[in-house]
Amino acid sequence: MRYVSTRGEDQGAGFRDILLGGLMGDGGLAMPSAYPRLSTADLESMHAMSYRDLAFAVLRLFATDVPEAVLRGLVDKTYTADVYCNGRPGEDAQQITPVRQLELGVYLLALSNGPTLAFKDMAMQLLGNLFEWALAENGETLNILGATSGDTGSSAEYAMRGKHGIRVFMLSPHGKMSLFQTAQMFSLSDSNIHNLAVRGVFDDCQDVVKAVSNDLAFKRQYRIGTVNSINWARVVAQVVYYFKGYFAVAPEAGAPVSFAVPSGNFGNICAGHIARMMGLPIRRLILATNENDVLDEFFRTGVYRPRGTAETRQTSSPSMDISKASNFERFVFDLVGRDPARIESLWRQMATDGAFDLRGTPEWQTIGRYGFVSGASTHQNRLETIRRAWETYRLMIDPHTADGLKVGMEYREEGVPLVCLETALPAKFAETIQEALGRAPVRPRKFEGIEQLPQRSVVLAPDAEVVKNFIRERAVECG
Ligand SMILES: *Cc1c(COP(=O)(O)O)cnc(C)c1O
Repeated sequence: MRYVSTRGEDQGAGFRDILLGGLMGDGGLAMPSAYPRLSTADLESMHAMSYRDLAFAVLRLFATDVPEAVLRGLVDKTYTADVYCNGRPGEDAQQITPVRQLELGVYLLALSNGPTLAFKDMAMQLLGNLFEWALAENGETLNILGATSGDTGSSAEYAMRGKHGIRVFMLSPHGKMSLFQTAQMFSLSDSNIHNLAVRGVFDDCQDVVKAVSNDLAFKRQYRIGTVNSINWARVVAQVVYYFKGYFAVAPEAGAPVSFAVPSGNFGNICAGHIARMMGLPIRRLILATNENDVLDEFFRTGVYRPRGTAETRQTSSPSMDISKASNFERFVFDLVGRDPARIESLWRQMATDGAFDLRGTPEWQTIGRYGFVSGASTHQNRLETIRRAWETYRLMIDPHTADGLKVGMEYREEGVPLVCLETALPAKFAETIQEALGRAPVRPRKFEGIEQLPQRSVVLAPDAEVVKNFIRERAVECG
């Protein structure tokens, strides 16, 4: 399998070439040169596979330059019942992503049983093991620098803790994360994890990360890397759970199934698009946004208009509060017939006009082929959906999952099973649960009393030079 860039200049890279990177050299995103296609016989042979076997079967098609025995070992080490266990009643941790029927034809795919209680662990845990192996192979080290407002940072830290050759420097806004999220990150005692609490807001943290990354000499000398959502391995690791969800509910291989996906950076649902392009019989990909409805607007109108940070609202499903969807270019690449010149021109137009508009183009006429439909939620919708799930299904869901369930139900069709992806556990968002249900969320036993554990972090000024000095003193320098 070879990879191309959506901007067309970089061609022919292998999986290992793009594994540790973010953007391609020409500023585009990595895409497989063609999607592997699975026949009905292939699908039938996958029907009864465990999550681990499915993960190997899917990933080996994309990571063809990782020796199969190595890949098998990394997958087996990643997807184990003791990593993905929260002991929720009726759930079988061996399933890794257990499926629960909510009502006739409607299911919840539990993706949040990983170490930080969000679906990001599904991919990030594999990434940690892949990175550690690739770095050892190349005799290299990596210093991961990131900014977080909660979910991504903790997921990355739990994936990279204790890994050889990797250090993590994670910036977060000092005193602005929830007590639970702060405790999750700051109670890690691994010596390769560094929590930098920056005096400022999330945007200040991001500005510092950008400033440090723009110092190319520093970046090279200390081999600074990221684990952001455009990383290809992160996207492809998520393809697996669409297969798992599909086989759990499809009456037979070949029957249509729809998925409802709460979306922010278009990473999760992009994996669904890839699974569908591979031949998994997904009928609809139901995209759900919150009040930040850039993506819903696109699928309804054909206009893609990313918002400025000032226009981005803070909502009660905060992990979907994005201004532009960083993985969206991958889907548009397919939509425009994989024409990098067209991508260039659309993104140039966006830079000058703030938007691009596909209405009336031949490309937009083909949109129906891809199965996308969309909708958005408000805070009120979220509260109602959480309440209804509790009253009808005796199930506590988190605000992001609620956004997906709400929009999913709007597009539900007779005779087509609907799988709603759970993206986090309610324990992470106690305030909204309290508002919706008048009670605190249930917390998995291993997180009881986490706020009382000793915490480790340093408070720093929002200043790139200060952060660089901190890294210099602790990083592994590259020869
Ligand atoms: C990251 C995240 C999302 C959004 O996922 P994308 O891949 O960015 O679309 C939704 N819900 C939760 C809880 C998240 O952490």
